[in-house]
Amino acid sequence: MKILVIGSGGREHALAWKLKQSPEVDQMLCAPGNAGTAAIAENVAIKASDLPALVRFAKENHVDLTVVGPDDPLAAGIVDLFRAQKLRVFGPTKSAARIESSKIFAKELMRAQEIPTAEANTFSDSGEAFRYCERLKFPVVIKADGLALGKGVIIAPDAATARSTIDAMMSEGRFGDAGRRIVIEEFLRGSECSLHALVDGKNYRLLESARDHKRVYDGDLGPNTGGMGAFSPANNWSAELEDQFDKKIMRPLLRGLHKEGITFRGLLYPGLMISADGARVLEFNCRFGDPETQVILPRMKSNLLPLLEATINGKIDNCAIEWDERAAVTVVLASGGYPDKYETGKAISGLDEAEKLDDVHIFHAGTQRTNGGIVTSGGRVLAVTALGSTIEAARARVYEAVSRIHFENCHYRRDIALTARHG
Ligand code: AMP
Repeated sequence: MKILVIGSGGREHALAWKLKQSPEVDQMLCAPGNAGTAAIAENVAIKASDLPALVRFAKENHVDLTVVGPDDPLAAGIVDLFRAQKLRVFGPTKSAARIESSKIFAKELMRAQEIPTAEANTFSDSGEAFRYCERLKFPVVIKADGLALGKGVIIAPDAATARSTIDAMMSEGRFGDAGRRIVIEEFLRGSECSLHALVDGKNYRLLESARDHKRVYDGDLGPNTGGMGAFSPANNWSAELEDQFDKKIMRPLLRGLHKEGITFRGLLYPGLMISADGARVLEFNCRFGDPETQVILPRMKSNLLPLLEATINGKIDNCAIEWDERAAVTVVLASGGYPDKYETGKAISGLDEAEKLDDVHIFHAGTQRTNGGIVTSGGRVLAVTALGSTIEAARARVYEAVSRIHFENCHYRRDIALTARHG
């Protein structure tokens, strides 16, 4: 089979790496990919946002299955375009992807099905939003309705911040159309957990749990990023929560989608907040997480390809997934300055030395191959993953690997997976 992975991050490198292990796969393609995918696949110079070119490429090159990594092409309807051309593709349709691309749509669905989530109100008028804020207990969470590169969620500690956030989103158009409508919701306390489910329209299979670290600096300080590291399994997840998750979140969600006439086929990744009274949904994502994928897939013993096929065919119920009992930790190496301004083109050394360690996988994100070697080309540069018999063992190994890699102004967190100790 000929497989095309769309995207260029660590998630896509991990997907391509895992899919390539399936015996059915003869050729792996990645669009546009990075220096890491170039080593295991053929990179195709088409951006993930250029949907017509991707459809044309898949058709002309007889691609058997396309796997879509990022959220933007899904929200723009890439799956509908592929299907219209009778091309097989893994991911939800445009209308199903609204579960991520419209926070208002997701909230309304959750409300209708009584799925536990933060109390929220939606606004399309900034005056009304201001007046509402005056009556609230702070902090509150303000969310742009649409996709905003992970930056559309602001936690406002006081009324002044809430007002300036509402102004920036609704009046000044900081996130374009994505922020014209907003959600204001209650601030939830607890610990976060990322779940990944292969959903085939009617049934689902849960992948192993994970937790990520979103803030840029140690101790969860500084601005939010795409993710600075992750570990699996999550230390705040349990069989009891899984049962609750099935009954109170997944079953009602599938019922709600069905009622809306939507068949969701793809990867559903709910972000949860776990507190003493159970799990509540922070958000739904409609694709694999980054960097969660970089800790989940190295723990998956089963082949991924048949699982994706079964999801597309509505047959996930027949599948069992085997897991490595060991823990995994991934640390993201970022360019100095990220998530704000940063420089690129820095030479990366030590990759081979790091990969010599047992049970270490290096997934590339913002990297590029040049005549002079591999250089940085993005904010998040590498995701270094290690497996270990415990989280602590995986943590020790991953930092040993990270210490062998160098590029100018490299920045990474030293406390990834440390929370595992405290719960
Ligand atoms: P979202 O994109 O909705 O998951 O939000 C991004 C991040 O903002 C989450 O991973 C949480 O860390 C935080 N967040 C979102 N909603 C809430 C909430 N209601 N209470 C507390 N933190 C939140």
